[in-house]
Amino acid sequence: MVGYVNPGVKVITVTAEDEVVRLCQELIRIDTSNPGDHSGPGERVAAEYVAEQLAEVGVESQIFESHPKRASLVARIEGEDRSRDALLLHGHLDVVPARAEDWTRDPFGGEIADGCVWGRGAVDMKNMDAMILAVVRKRLREGRKPPRDVVLAFLADEEAGGKWGARWLVDEKPELFEGCTEAVGEVGGFSLTVPGDRRMYLIETAEKGIAWMNLTARGTAGHGSMVHPDNAVTALAAAVGRLGSHEFPVQLTKTVRSFLERACLAYGVEFDPDDPEKCLDEIGPLARMIGATLRHTLNPSVLEAGYKANVIPQTATAQVDGRFLPGYEDDFFATVDGLLGPDVERGFVHHDQALEADYEGALVEAMEAALLSEDAGALPVPYCLSGGTDGKSFARLGMRCYGFAPLRLPPELDFSGMFHGVDERVPVDGLHFGVRVLDQFLDRS
Ligand SMILES: [Zn+2]
Repeated sequence: MVGYVNPGVKVITVTAEDEVVRLCQELIRIDTSNPGDHSGPGERVAAEYVAEQLAEVGVESQIFESHPKRASLVARIEGEDRSRDALLLHGHLDVVPARAEDWTRDPFGGEIADGCVWGRGAVDMKNMDAMILAVVRKRLREGRKPPRDVVLAFLADEEAGGKWGARWLVDEKPELFEGCTEAVGEVGGFSLTVPGDRRMYLIETAEKGIAWMNLTARGTAGHGSMVHPDNAVTALAAAVGRLGSHEFPVQLTKTVRSFLERACLAYGVEFDPDDPEKCLDEIGPLARMIGATLRHTLNPSVLEAGYKANVIPQTATAQVDGRFLPGYEDDFFATVDGLLGPDVERGFVHHDQALEADYEGALVEAMEAALLSEDAGALPVPYCLSGGTDGKSFARLGMRCYGFAPLRLPPELDFSGMFHGVDERVPVDGLHFGVRVLDQFLDRS
């Protein structure tokens, strides 16, 4: 759009749709790979970039460095009614590392090809960071305050559990989030095409809990030629085998039940509470993730013991990735401990709560209405994420957390497969759709 205020002075009006693609590209080009320790480039440069983008429209922000180069940014935008509770919009700035040789395009190039922005973070989650920035910039340029205070948080370290990002801010600077009762971040709001040219939009209202466990078995060290009834390797291997092959029963949480009922309706399959997995056959690649939200899961991932074939080591250790359903944490650990038996000790590498918010209320209605205003074929549905997000940290401050980064996607795109995958890319059209929906959502929030 081009307008003229007086002869000779050309004013370019920038729309959020124009900007979101540039912002997404520029964010991707700032390498914020997070290997899980402090050996990566950190998020400081990206946080400063976000601060500049906000400063251009008059938003002051604060950058917090939890560790050299590990930085998060927080800003508060005044709303029309300051007596209302505030809304937190959050996105993480870090990405998982990428091996360039595995990719078709430069993972940090932010190129546009085949109608998509390509690069690490295009899906997880510089897309949403860019959408938040584009919408906020547009609204402030137009002088449109949100209905209530909105706190923006662009965070470090989500990909390693948020210890140096969301969790650090919640522990060290909780006052930044004063008045925030609801939070919106990843992983939700994206579409899944269903029959009849309609699209389910999966709004994240629940997350499984995380139990990354350390297992240790102890025995007597000695010569490999002797009798060893208390061999640590044998004890550990047996316990790991029991955990890895255990089949947990289906336990339907309210979120998963609601998702399955709505998905069955969308696919024209009858919902059968005795065989709730039936409709998963219909939903394609996403079934791997949704299937994991019907039950607890346990996946052994690391084994360590010994250093020579004829030396029996004194200890053997393993790590197991466990994920438990909201509301069933005690049940999960009772099963784990029963499977481990008395000879294997259990500790944590990482332990975080499961979340479940009700799929009702004004904020949910705002998400649904915003989607429907931009896609008449939208079928918003609640779902449970099998992984975890920074929402877990914000929930510790009492916030209800949702994943809503709206994207209308083409039917053939395996979106969920691109999280941490190769050739991560987001459709340009999807970003345009997303900023329009987010803008409408903020109006209604
Ligand atoms: Zn993410």
